[in-house]
Amino acid sequence: MAHADCTIPGQRALTGADRPNGNRPIFGIPVTAATSDVMIDELDRLSGAAEAGEPLQVAFLNAHNANLCWENADVAAAFRRGLVLNDGIGLDIATRLLHGEAFPDNLNGTDFVPLYLERTSRIFRIFLLGGTEGVAEKVRAAFQARAPQHRYVGTRHGYFTDREASGVADAIAASGADLVLVALGSPRQELWMSRYLADTGCRIGISVGGLFDFASGTKPRAPALVRRLQCEWVFRLLLEPRRMARRYLRGNFAFLARVARERLAPHSTPVWTRG
Ligand code: UDP
Repeated sequence: MAHADCTIPGQRALTGADRPNGNRPIFGIPVTAATSDVMIDELDRLSGAAEAGEPLQVAFLNAHNANLCWENADVAAAFRRGLVLNDGIGLDIATRLLHGEAFPDNLNGTDFVPLYLERTSRIFRIFLLGGTEGVAEKVRAAFQARAPQHRYVGTRHGYFTDREASGVADAIAASGADLVLVALGSPRQELWMSRYLADTGCRIGISVGGLFDFASGTKPRAPALVRRLQCEWVFRLLLEPRRMARRYLRGNFAFLARVARERLAPHSTPVWTRG
């Protein structure tokens, strides 16, 4: 399968030549293949470029939200709007089957985003959006300790109605933020960003899934060994069996079956997966 280009709104298309390891489409979503060091530089470069053009939207693709992209063209389009990084073992299996090699690093948002804030050469004004009441405040305290060079200009919980969604973007714009971290769960966070990121005035928006729950201490992280083996999903399944069973048991099976189908019969897959 040909490698698709990843077009960042307001910029020329990025091609494999821009990135040492290129990018690899999975269900039509071009996933960037890079080490975390390369990706930190890349995000600095792209967020600088986004000052002049449209903001940069960053998302993390895992087996769960790849399934959502397979099932819904609007969700796939929201992911395709920006830069997509690989999260978890499912994506590694997929890229081995579809493109013949693993990703150089597991760039899941829970580990990579705090690392980026710590190591970036830029100084950001950050807004934290998402989680239940009070969670974003705790994340602000945790990030202030870990990456004190930035200013944390606002927080808001993530439980708002569709009618309130545009007011949330206005509140972020009023805060003067230039980076927003969005933890609304998938696909809500990607859909909200693709619709409202431009209204926030931020030059970069990153969807971060469960990061706020972990960074605030609301939910425990899996032990380091489990994370190294890329089996964090098993830990999450044990912690929240009712909510996660559908996502991980049925979902992982469906994901692998769809990857096999994309490998063996690409023309039988949904049209937006054939990028
Ligand atoms: N969340 C939210 N608003 C919503 C749904 C979810 O703020 O309408 C928050 C939730 O409190 C959690 C985060 O989104 O902090 C991630 O949710 P989930 O665990 O479902 O996401 P995932 O692990 O799939 O990324």
